[in-house]
Amino acid sequence: MQTDETRRIIVDQTAAADETVYMRYKTLKEVNKAKLTSYLERLVELQQVEEELADDLEVRRKKHAEAMNEAIEALGDAVTCSFCGKKRDEVKHMVSAPSGACICDECVSLCRDIFAGRADGRNE
Ligand SMILES: [Zn+2]
Repeated sequence: MQTDETRRIIVDQTAAADETVYMRYKTLKEVNKAKLTSYLERLVELQQVEEELADDLEVRRKKHAEAMNEAIEALGDAVTCSFCGKKRDEVKHMVSAPSGACICDECVSLCRDIFAGRADGRNE
C-alpha cells in the first residue's frame, strides 16, 4: 500500500541515487509521477524480498554444509580397507569400488609385490 511517506522515501532515494533522474522525474505529469512512484515502490518491495531470500538461502546453505560435513565425517570413519581393515585416516590413500569394497595403498603395494612374485600374500 502506497502512502505519502513511502512515496517521499522512494523519491528521496531516487534523487540520492541520480540527480539527473530526479530532475527528469520532476518534469513528469502528476499521473505519470504516481505510476513511476508505484513502480519504484514495487521495485523496493521486491529488493527487500530478494534480500530476505538471500539471507534465508545463506542460512540454509550453512546448515546443509554442516550436515554434509557431519555425514562425510561419519562416512570417513566407516570406510575401512576391505583387505587389511585399516581406517581411512590410518593409510595414505584409499580407493573405493562401486560395490563398496575399498583397498588401501599398502594393500595395493602388497598386491603388486605378490603379482611380481616378491611376496606370498600373507600380511606381516
Ligand atoms: Zn589395506
